[in-house]
Amino acid sequence: MTLTTVAPHIYQVTLPLPFALNHVHCYLLDDGDGWTAVDAGLHTSQTEAGWLAAFTELGITPAHLKRIILTHTHPDHYGAAGWLEQWSDGRAAVHLSPREAEVASRTWGEWGQHEQLMVRHLLRAGLTPAMAQEVAENTQFVATRTRPHPTHHELLQPGSRIEMAQRTFDILSYAGHSDGQLLFHCSAEALMLSGDHVLMDITPNISLWPGGWANPLGRYLDSLRELKAFEVALALPGHKRLIHDWHGRLAELEKHHAERLGHTLAAVQGGDSTTAEIAKTVFRLNHLTVHEARFAITETLAHLEYLAHQGEIKEDEAGEMGLMVTRYSLFVIGCWLTKAMA
Ligand SMILES: [Zn+2]
Repeated sequence: MTLTTVAPHIYQVTLPLPFALNHVHCYLLDDGDGWTAVDAGLHTSQTEAGWLAAFTELGITPAHLKRIILTHTHPDHYGAAGWLEQWSDGRAAVHLSPREAEVASRTWGEWGQHEQLMVRHLLRAGLTPAMAQEVAENTQFVATRTRPHPTHHELLQPGSRIEMAQRTFDILSYAGHSDGQLLFHCSAEALMLSGDHVLMDITPNISLWPGGWANPLGRYLDSLRELKAFEVALALPGHKRLIHDWHGRLAELEKHHAERLGHTLAAVQGGDSTTAEIAKTVFRLNHLTVHEARFAITETLAHLEYLAHQGEIKEDEAGEMGLMVTRYSLFVIGCWLTKAMA
């Protein structure tokens, strides 16, 4: 655990993760009349030890913890929320967006059903049944690291305001990385808590998940345009370095997805390809390992769905005995029209 003062009354608590992305940043905010935790980490023994060390260092007792705010409910942010609630003797309720509350109860609360949806999602993308099962089972590990689930929660409404760290923040919500991701903007100080929506060094994962909102990449690119309206001198992210050049980073993220869309479209040229085949070309992989498959497939799907929404490519579903596979081809008339209108 590393504890860093990042702004007056705001402490960054960096906790370990057992993944390639090996850490997550949570935050402890000194509200004056108690403390707010922003994000919780994955529920592992290292996370528990990390939180306890941070509480000791800052002199925080269970009675001081007022609430737990979640930017979104991916397992590395949501996982230890129930444990933190228990640690506070049930005083600290979990606060999250209405959409993320739905997503969390469906994904983590009903994991068995969700796992089956995930397998079908991967089969449709062209993974073999053995591989799809392996990926879903691999994901099972993180599901076990989200327990216990929080017992009471309060909804934070986008468009309203919240007092924390002895400041006023506007509550914003943007989709793309997760459907109901919350960001918090303090206009008086040009300070943003950006969750995983805007990150340095790595690009936020934009994936099409079973049960998630349609066209996440379209929603994400819209959000980047809207986020340019905010003045941000410092953004506090969920991973990697603090963000000092907000507008520069938004532009880089737009460029990244424009390039990725170009590579995805080029990979569809051959026609009649599955998502798995296209993902191998886009990510330059000879074969997909279990770890790569999960994100390569769902990220490629997000880009393919965007291109389909734009009328650049078309999807065809075919299959037998309930095993449907989606194949993508260029939407020739659409391309011709796009070129003719350019
Ligand atoms: Zn995330």
